[in-house]
Formats: sequence, C-alpha cells, structure tokens
Amino acid sequence: MKLIIASNNAHKVTEIKAILGDYYEQILSLRDAGIEIDVEEDADTFEGNALKKASEIFDAVDADAVLSDDSGLEVDALGGAPGVYSARYAGEGHDDAANNAKILENMKDVADEKRSCRFVSAVALVRKDKQPIVLRGTVEGMLLRAPQGENGFGYDPLFFYEPFNKSFAELTADEKNAVSHRKNALEALRAVLEQEK
Ligand code: IMP
Repeated sequence: MKLIIASNNAHKVTEIKAILGDYYEQILSLRDAGIEIDVEEDADTFEGNALKKASEIFDAVDADAVLSDDSGLEVDALGGAPGVYSARYAGEGHDDAANNAKILENMKDVADEKRSCRFVSAVALVRKDKQPIVLRGTVEGMLLRAPQGENGFGYDPLFFYEPFNKSFAELTADEKNAVSHRKNALEALRAVLEQEK
C-alpha cells in the first residue's frame, strides 16, 4: 500500500512515517513521488483545507491513499485569529518574525490570564472507495509577551507550554513532537485505522 503525504516538509514527513509507518509499505512526500501540484488553501476551516488538499492530490496521483495536514494557531482573545490565516497573518510574503510581531502588538493590552491559545492540526486521509477521515489534534498554551527560545518555527517562540514550563521554541524537536497538535491528530488517525483492522 502506498501513501502520499501532501507536503514536502521533511519534518512533517518524518513525524508521519514514525506514527503511520506500520500501515503503509511506502510513504512518500510529493517530491519523493515526483509530483508538483499547488492546491489553493482557501477554505475557512483547517479541516476544509486539509480535505481539499488531500482530495485534489488524490485525484491527480496513483496512490492508495493521500494524507494532508493543515495547521495554525488560535488565540482566544483574538476570536480565534490568526487561525487558517496563520502562515500569512502579517500579509502575503511576510515571514514568521512579522507574524509574531503582529500578534504581540494585537495582544499587548490583554491580561496574562486571558492569553490562552492553542495550536491546531487537522489531518485528512483520502482513499479509494472509502469515506475520507478528517480529524483534529490540538495542544493548549499561553501566548507570551515576547519571543522566548530559538528552536522550532512559526509561532513556537510565543507559545508557552505550561506542563514543561517552557515555550515550544525552548523544546528539542523530540520533546515538541511528543506533545504537539500534529502528533495528537496523527495518533487519533492511527486509532481510527486500528479500529478498521
Ligand atoms: P501549514 O499547516 O504548514 O500551512 O502551517 C500554517 C502556519 O501555522 C505556519 O506557517 C505557522 O505559522 C503556523 N504553525 C503551524 N504549526 C506550527 C507549529 O508547530 N509551531 C509554530 N507555528 C506553527
């Protein structure tokens, strides 16, 4: 059985192989599979974007299954923003530093106890003759007042994870992968696949 992951992000591919490796003989990134396809992520939910990406790619490739994920940060005091706009919060073509600066500015008057937020990952698995599986994983945190730590990417330096008393950017990759939103979504998917057996 061949699974294509709708991503070229090496970090995501490694994480997915570790969790779903025993369900598929072959797990390939888009690049590994020699596929170049650009899906517009224009849905208004993480689940909608993940399903759109997996479905469009499934229709264009020869594989038993296609898995995609769409992720981002939800800040409660901002009504769930940046949400599905996480990658381009500060505008198209802006980088992580600009996104982080914009969040800090929008949150500057928000009290410590009202700075709750979460990372969300929606995963979608599309297969032949089966209903798609779409699931969400989350991890809860508090939004810091200044970046802290050098590891990770995106909003990690602003995401304080209370159980470890550190920001996500102060964790090693293994520490983060053990508790991340993506890990929780993939474990939920694994549980569904296990039940199908
Ligand atoms: P995508 O799912 O790869 O499109 O990610 C969307 C955006 O969400 C990224 O560009 C980051 O800004 C943010 N994001 C998603 N997951 C993480 C994470 O684990 N740490 C920090 N930022 C994240």
